Amino acid sequence: MASPTEKTRKGVYLRDGHRCVTCGNPTTLEFQHRRRVGAGGSKILPAPVDGLTLCHRHNRECEAEMQTEALRSGWKVRAWVRRPELVPVYYPLDRAWFRLEGLFRIEISRAVAMEMGCSVYGAEWLAWHEVIA
Ligand SMILES: [Zn+2]
Repeated sequence: MASPTEKTRKGVYLRDGHRCVTCGNPTTLEFQHRRRVGAGGSKILPAPVDGLTLCHRHNRECEAEMQTEALRSGWKVRAWVRRPELVPVYYPLDRAWFRLEGLFRIEISRAVAMEMGCSVYGAEWLAWHEVIA
């Protein structure tokens, strides 16, 4: 996946309130690719639902020590997921789940978020959320 267009990047920052989704830092903002960017560098342009606003530090950490938290919160999406809009996103500063629809985010209940995540990931999602042991 290539870099987003300037329009997509600015739209995603606006949707996310011009702050890091995980910590609220309004500086060093980066466009986090929810799906891994291929090493070869595909020409496919990321859509707004492929992106999230993170600060520099959290963008790095989502690929490293924060990876599981990033997956369970929808900040990252497994590379095989074809429709990232089906994976809900947790915004900790709002203490709420949202589904992404283009450049908009729509608040949803936790129950709906669990249903959405489960429909994509099945047991793995339930395990992340400790719904099952
Ligand atoms: Zn941050």
